[in-house]
Amino acid sequence: MIAQVIVDVVHTNVDKPFSYLVPQEMNVAVGMRVSVPLGRRQVDGYIVQLLLDDQLPVGLPLEKMRPLTKVLDEYSAILPAMLELAKEIAEDAHCPLAETLRLMLPPAMRSGRIQRQMDKYAELADGVNAEEEAQKQKRAPKRAMLLRLLADGKPHAVSDLSQIVANPRDALKVLDEAGLIKLSKQEVFRAPDGAENEVRSTAPKLTYGQKEALGAMIPSLKEGKGAFLLHGVTGSGKTEVYLDMVRETLAMGRGSIILVPEIALTPQMIRWFRNRFGPETAVLHSRLTDGQRYDEWRRIRLGYARVVVGARSAIFAPIEKLGLIVIDEEHEQTYLSDKHPRYDARHIAMSRTMREGGTLVLSSATPSILSFAMARRGDYTLVEMPDRVNERPLPEVTIVDMRHELEAGNRSIFSILLIQKLKECMDRGEQAMLFLNRRGFNTFISCRSCGYVVKCEQCDLSLTLHREPGKNDPGKLRCHMCGAEKAPPTICPECGSKYIRFFGSGTQRVEEEMHKLFPSVKTVRMDIDTTRGRDAHAKLLGEFGEGRAQVLIGTQMIAKGLDFPRVTLVGVIAADMTLNLPDYRAQERTFQLITQVAGRAGRADSSGEVIVQTYKPDNPCILAAADQDYRAFFEMEFSRRRAGLYPPFTMLARMLVESEREVDAKEMAERLYETIQTFILSHPAQKKRVLLVRMDEAPVKRIRGQHRYHVLLKLFDHADTAPLLRLMSEMSNLSNDHCKIYCEVNPATMM
Ligand code: ADP
Ligand code: ZN
Ligand code: ZN
Repeated sequence: MIAQVIVDVVHTNVDKPFSYLVPQEMNVAVGMRVSVPLGRRQVDGYIVQLLLDDQLPVGLPLEKMRPLTKVLDEYSAILPAMLELAKEIAEDAHCPLAETLRLMLPPAMRSGRIQRQMDKYAELADGVNAEEEAQKQKRAPKRAMLLRLLADGKPHAVSDLSQIVANPRDALKVLDEAGLIKLSKQEVFRAPDGAENEVRSTAPKLTYGQKEALGAMIPSLKEGKGAFLLHGVTGSGKTEVYLDMVRETLAMGRGSIILVPEIALTPQMIRWFRNRFGPETAVLHSRLTDGQRYDEWRRIRLGYARVVVGARSAIFAPIEKLGLIVIDEEHEQTYLSDKHPRYDARHIAMSRTMREGGTLVLSSATPSILSFAMARRGDYTLVEMPDRVNERPLPEVTIVDMRHELEAGNRSIFSILLIQKLKECMDRGEQAMLFLNRRGFNTFISCRSCGYVVKCEQCDLSLTLHREPGKNDPGKLRCHMCGAEKAPPTICPECGSKYIRFFGSGTQRVEEEMHKLFPSVKTVRMDIDTTRGRDAHAKLLGEFGEGRAQVLIGTQMIAKGLDFPRVTLVGVIAADMTLNLPDYRAQERTFQLITQVAGRAGRADSSGEVIVQTYKPDNPCILAAADQDYRAFFEMEFSRRRAGLYPPFTMLARMLVESEREVDAKEMAERLYETIQTFILSHPAQKKRVLLVRMDEAPVKRIRGQHRYHVLLKLFDHADTAPLLRLMSEMSNLSNDHCKIYCEVNPATMM
């Protein structure tokens, strides 16, 4: 037999299968990882096809072929369906197959750094009466005790035994040699943190809305097909719908994947699944240790765990019989990968469920414009849950015009109404959440006399002041792009004046003002700065969840999916923050954030109130968010996109060039621009489909000392433009030592 192998080396030169002889005694299958000779090197690779000797590709003499060196696992690491998927992504992203195959494996598996963990086990030998034998061991109390511990006939980990009997190894060896016990080695799977504290729970009585939604989806699930967009308002009980579908899927003997935006922010979600499905649940995300990730991956691959909860990359979980994929909060940007090869997890999910015969559920209270438009077009079946669980009302939202606050002499970042509502909420002993999508203390430092703005030396961005609330320390200026820090200036570096002023507020400032206004109230702040440690999220959320703090202050981290029954007040400190972003999705982001964060209030028996502070109280997307009227927002935004020819009506693509020297970046961008223009002009079919080609400095001109230029294209997604996109993708190979070129199609951000 001959194995066709893709070697695990990312280079276009080797992006084709190589042929190797399979030695007689070697057991192989498609998808197995193998070690093979390549030139003078030994490299890893994947078997992508097996051929019989007489199917040999022409021009390849059998005598010259080298044999496979060895197989690396005893099973196929890449399942057949995943191999097809890897090929499809490689084609779409115009990149080598070896690169997309890497997406399918835990990183530590490829490096070979990770070992299985084997534990020693002891159990009573067949037919041995433990008590009788123990009594004979009069001189050896350790042995007697061990025999009694093993009396139940079950295997016990030696590490567990040693908790009771100190240093049991010698005694065990003697018992083993006497034939009284058996020693063995068994693999143990390293479990993710928290896996041990599961409390089994059962499903509550489903609400009418939940039953309706399930009724619409379960028939397709049973037939192994269908793609749904589940649009359910915040607090409508969508999680319970997922749980029920997963239960149904397990009953069919199939597995499920549930994607969540960021696992650290949704520890509650994992808990719900563990409590319902116990060890059938596996989690996959980047905060696991290498060992935990490898073991969870193998528990899935070997079929021990058939319910996978995870972040974006869990979409590649090696479930053999896939029945269901749920994407929670489908509108989140985190589902678009920002690393090469780029992919959209929603797209992969669709491809997997179609190929493997499963059902796809995209779910959100604020679906992306793209997904909702697709549902209208019939690509997804729309299922709606318009009411909260148990007829709880949606929270009442009040918009506060911050321009009037200034006029009324209130210079605080809290409006008078918000202060009053906070006071009432604290007096009632309930909890509040304050949302501001900016971290740090002040976000903008400038000179009042000459207008100088303090910027990062390496990036074209203004610096943010970070200062721990309540401390008398001047703090540090920090760049949110590269992390560079410096001391805040006291006089203007430009004109020498001492009128340096600090503007703009971040979460630290909110915390400080909160302490000034309510000295006795305990607060918890959640932003990137307070959540660096591995368990930081869980700790902070725990502190708030258990009521040790009354107010949770945070960035968009606190907008997602949290379910705290005692929260009755939500304050949005500055609703317009995201509106001013230079991105066609700014309106969509703003609507989503406000609606989501508002949805954290009043989720249990007490009703919720939301105060939205803004300088643009008439902005239609803020108004729609205040009404929590998704349809109204969708119609408005959809027409705006149509009129302005923005996605989903068109697509945006760009070639980004980065270089240490500005002229290099600019010249390269000009060269790319010329090539693209020439290509378009010489292909008349494309000309009609391309709306815009422009060469410019990128919106952020410099990052980490790299000057940035881009060639921006707006074009229709059409068969005619495919060759242009391929050309652009190939041009990224022109990258050289002093110029990096990236091709981005509909990127998550366009800085
Ligand atoms: P969503 O994700 O739609 O915002 P969740 O799934 O978080 O909503 O559910 C909101 C709250 O309602 C949770 O506290 C959940 O435990 C509760 N809940 C969900 N379904 C039921 C039910 N059938 N009966 C009682 N409580 C429920
Ligand atoms: Zn100045
Ligand atoms: Zn910087």
